[in-house]
Amino acid sequence: MRITIVGAGFSGSVLAIELARNAASGVDVCLAGVAGNYARGVAYGDARPEHLLNVRARQLGATADYPADFADWLSLTEKARDRFLPRLVYGEYLHARLHAAAEISQASLSRVKQEVIAIERAGNGFRVHLADGGAFASDQVVLAVGALPPQALTGVGPRLAVHPSYIGWPWQDRALENVDANARLLIVGTGLTMADVVTTLRRRGHRGPITALSRHGLLSRAHGDEPAPPVALPPTVLQALHQHDLREVVRALRTLSAIVPDWRSLVDAVRPHAQAFWRGLPMAERARFLRHLRPHWEAARHRLAPSVAVDIEALRATGQLRIRAGRLLRARRIDGAVNVSIRDRGSSEIRNETCDVLIRATGLDTDFEHTPDPLMANLRESGLLAPDPLGLGVITNDRFEAIARDGRPVRGLHVLGPLLRAQLWEITAVPELRVAARALARQLLSSGWLATPAAAAIAMPSRRVSF
Ligand SMILES: Cc1cc2nc3c(=O)[nH]c(=O)nc-3n(C[C@H](O)[C@H](O)[C@H](O)COP(=O)(O)OP(=O)(O)OC[C@H]3O[C@@H](n4cnc5c(N)ncnc54)[C@H](O)[C@@H]3O)c2cc1C
Repeated sequence: MRITIVGAGFSGSVLAIELARNAASGVDVCLAGVAGNYARGVAYGDARPEHLLNVRARQLGATADYPADFADWLSLTEKARDRFLPRLVYGEYLHARLHAAAEISQASLSRVKQEVIAIERAGNGFRVHLADGGAFASDQVVLAVGALPPQALTGVGPRLAVHPSYIGWPWQDRALENVDANARLLIVGTGLTMADVVTTLRRRGHRGPITALSRHGLLSRAHGDEPAPPVALPPTVLQALHQHDLREVVRALRTLSAIVPDWRSLVDAVRPHAQAFWRGLPMAERARFLRHLRPHWEAARHRLAPSVAVDIEALRATGQLRIRAGRLLRARRIDGAVNVSIRDRGSSEIRNETCDVLIRATGLDTDFEHTPDPLMANLRESGLLAPDPLGLGVITNDRFEAIARDGRPVRGLHVLGPLLRAQLWEITAVPELRVAARALARQLLSSGWLATPAAAAIAMPSRRVSF
């Protein structure tokens, strides 16, 4: 029995850890991922030293049964557990945990450091094709490919899209290193990705003006210096969540936020209910949420580490960083610069302006229908995956199984990570992903003979480790 996991980021690595701990001998877990950020992923492998986690260290254990594991691995003091540590450190931790799980596993774990470019049905299983032309058979496949490579911003002309003055993926290939310190920058996005970009530019001593643009001009809010005290949601909110009544949930939360000592407690209290709420929300209500509420929810939910927020505020105070509400309509490369057309929020006027570099920082791309990613294009064309109508990834059922274009579940093809947003919405960060990885591992191993009979067996050294 071979289970192939495509994508060795957080989700793929944690699923491999869960399988390694619990699968019996005879199971071959193959973790296929690109070499550059193998066993770390984009967030924790492609980061720079100045990029911080946006979750306190105490809650970041890789597996759902042991949230303190990361802090324990670092032997952090009680006080240090509430700190926001560099993401690269978390990458080291993930890598170490995967290695340790492989060492004690009864199953065989193999790693393939290659991009998977196509997957096709073969008998009751699949054939997995690699970028170097190799291929192998697999009984089950889990797609844990993370968010999709960002597509060019709407309005960006073809010449600009391939020019160094357009940075479409700020984490890739150290893209920001070639930005001139005096360059006038336009960043599209005002959330965590923008904060990453600005933090790096600041570290590099950037002197030129920076404008960050988004539809509402909402900057991510900051974590408090201390964790927000937990609150219990009142019955009215719980009932509204249970009844999938979006309007009532919003109304009640607005009222409560004026009463509770720290609004962050409310967001944190709603979060555990978000997946069940989203599942029951009709498509029209989901669309309404995305149109009107998403920017507000994301600014409150995806918060900045306090020190990052201080840096951003310092740049705003000097006037070097300007946050602007509006829409980029068009961007072209003209006469050695970037010419942009922007409509400010609430204005009917379109302004033409010039900058030197345009940076896309609009967050996770889950638009499966339009992505040019080779594997996703292959699965789209073969019909094994179907797009969510709202652009939130792919259609799956409650068992993480892909639903094909013909509406039927594809037995043996599973999805894990941000592409599950269509089904779960709140599925992009460590706390939710580790729970999903555990549930999927259980399911994959649920056909009795695949799982170890008892946890005690997990401690036995493996003879078949290939990590
Ligand atoms: C910059 C950034 C910072 C973040 N910070 C935090 C944080 O502080 N705390 C938090 O909880 N969450 C954070 N997140 C959210 C983050 O999405 C999750 O924590 C988690 O890392 C997602 O893991 P993933 O495995 O689903 O995706 P990824 O980490 O993106 O991993 C997917 C992997 O699959 C690989 N891949 C893709 N296609 C293929 C293919 N065809 N073949 C082989 N390999 C492939 C990719 O190269 C990548 O290595 C952050 C996200 C980003 C982007």
